[in-house]
Amino acid sequence: MGGGHAGIEAALASARMGCKTMLFTISLDALGNMPCNPSIGGTAKGHLVREIDALGGEMGKAADKCMIQSRMLNRGKGAAVHSLRAQIDRVKYHNHIKQVCEQEKNLQIIQAEVTEILTEKSIITGVKTRLGRIYPCKAVIIATGTYLAGKVHIGECNYHSGPDNSLAAMFLSDSLKAIGVNLRRFKTGTPCRVHGRSIDFSVLDIQNGDEDITPFSFETIENLENIVPCYISYTNEETHEIIRNNLHRSPLFSGQIEGTGPRYCPSIEDKIVRFADKERHQLFIEPMGLETKEFYLQGMSSSLPFDVQEMFVKSIKGLENAEIMRPAYAIEYDCCNPIDLKPTLEFKNVSGLYGAGQFNGSSGYEEAAAQGLVAGINAVLKIQNKAPLTLGRSSSYIGTLIDDLTTKGCEDPYRMMTSRSEYRLLLRQDNADQRLTPIGREIGLISQERYDKLTEKIEIVKNEKARLEKITVAPSEKINNYLKEKGTTELSTGAKLADLIRRPQLGYDIVNVTDNSVLSDKYICEQVELEIKYSGYIAKQESRIEQLKRLENRKIPENTDYDSIKGLRLEAIEKLKKHKPDNIAQASHISGVSPADISLLILYLSSK
Ligand SMILES: Cc1cc2nc3c(=O)[nH]c(=O)nc-3n(C[C@H](O)[C@H](O)[C@H](O)COP(=O)(O)OP(=O)(O)OC[C@H]3O[C@@H](n4cnc5c(N)ncnc54)[C@H](O)[C@@H]3O)c2cc1C
Repeated sequence: MGGGHAGIEAALASARMGCKTMLFTISLDALGNMPCNPSIGGTAKGHLVREIDALGGEMGKAADKCMIQSRMLNRGKGAAVHSLRAQIDRVKYHNHIKQVCEQEKNLQIIQAEVTEILTEKSIITGVKTRLGRIYPCKAVIIATGTYLAGKVHIGECNYHSGPDNSLAAMFLSDSLKAIGVNLRRFKTGTPCRVHGRSIDFSVLDIQNGDEDITPFSFETIENLENIVPCYISYTNEETHEIIRNNLHRSPLFSGQIEGTGPRYCPSIEDKIVRFADKERHQLFIEPMGLETKEFYLQGMSSSLPFDVQEMFVKSIKGLENAEIMRPAYAIEYDCCNPIDLKPTLEFKNVSGLYGAGQFNGSSGYEEAAAQGLVAGINAVLKIQNKAPLTLGRSSSYIGTLIDDLTTKGCEDPYRMMTSRSEYRLLLRQDNADQRLTPIGREIGLISQERYDKLTEKIEIVKNEKARLEKITVAPSEKINNYLKEKGTTELSTGAKLADLIRRPQLGYDIVNVTDNSVLSDKYICEQVELEIKYSGYIAKQESRIEQLKRLENRKIPENTDYDSIKGLRLEAIEKLKKHKPDNIAQASHISGVSPADISLLILYLSSK
């Protein structure tokens, strides 16, 4: 249920794994819509997109097809936080992803609002639409995004609506509550869109894309090109003054908005209040597509009244004559509490009912798509009586996202960040294929041909690493000039090529300089370089993972009587009873359950 980024991945995975699948959406014209920033990726979000692609999902390929500019963020930092971010042509993305869905054999897409979930003894039997039509089925995935009892706020004005003034889903919440799904209110916001002819680009800083673009999909072979730039401007004291003088008219500060907003995507009025000492806030002026004059003001989401929006936008350099085409707004919506979900994203109390995306309390296209993919896969695996897919924290950001949501829950819309993963050096975006494509093959979303290509790549990387550990290069004028140029110590005696690559100033290029190069594929060379550079750290991390893996798989029987475990602290008992963890690792991630509690639990289970 849902033609957004979660619903699409779920539906495609389900259909491609051989299940007859129906995708419902309130409007076919909003399939794959980007109601917020017209971009895919960003810090940690880029990792998610590469992992979705590695597992057999669609978002990475679609983003490569519809990108109009691409940048690798955090290049100045370590490889673990390098993150791809692409500006996307919003309308082209919608058309492209709609075609992909229309061409999928086992997939039917229908414009219909689901108003009721049908169950028997807490087992899914079907859904009913607003037209009264019943569709029997064995599994339902709820991916209703920001539409569920959606309410838009622009200053004092508010009305029930989905994003971009689409219809809100006003009936389903009651049906969900009736079958025992707990719902709560979250909120998010978006900035206004401005007509390009009213922007003075000559006074703005320009931000171009990368020369050498890395695609999101491991299957994209064509060279991608930047087509348009983005622009940068800043708020100023006048902007801040206008907003401060009108905070009393903000639904956020007047209490009109009940829902909890995203901690890490604050509105401009929120930023001016929370960071009052900041003289200016940066904003990015981003093109929405090639066939439109609309520009998106990244960093300026707001729910202030329209007249105030016009004033503060026109106070910004380059936007003095801005023509607002779409006002900024906040939207409140119903979503579930993800701790009511299993790691498969199935509801603990309704068999065959799954949640994905914004409905699960997350925020972002990438987070939504990742959950949709996992929910779709698990719905099919359950119908086919196969073992479920649960991705551990050590395997991926997708695993970290779902583990955080289903064990710790979230008090505000959850946005993925690299700091959320204790394994972030291992979970680099460049090795997502090595970590997840074998799993994608196992569940049938990755072709044998693609899997063979990966196996071959892994073999080449392994052999090349071994080769470079053996080659010793002697000092020479050519090499020492290169080393001097790179700002690292010149050679006085022979050195292993691999050791040279380990120097922070050097990379795989040294292999070419020393005439030892045999590889031409730049992505394989990148892999070799990164694995050599971080081999020591990787080894340490891997042994830690092995230790945790042993713990991770240790199952906790559902009927475990936590009250009878001697020495277990009260808070741990409460939290373990509330979260009903599936295994030891999940238990160890519950806030308030200490390592000491975990040892007692392990002792108890072994004694049992
Ligand atoms: C105003 C706004 C601001 C945002 N700001 C940010 C931000 O700052 N940062 C960020 O990361 N993300 C932001 N987002 C969120 C981002 O858009 C979502 O995270 C993402 O689109 C979620 O994808 P989804 O698939 O869960 O839901 P959506 O993309 O919202 O799709 C939901 C789908 O469900 C369908 N649907 C809903 N109810 C029914 C029903 N009863 N029957 C049939 N179909 C139904 C709809 O038609 C739609 O196709 C914002 C979204 C909005 C609207």
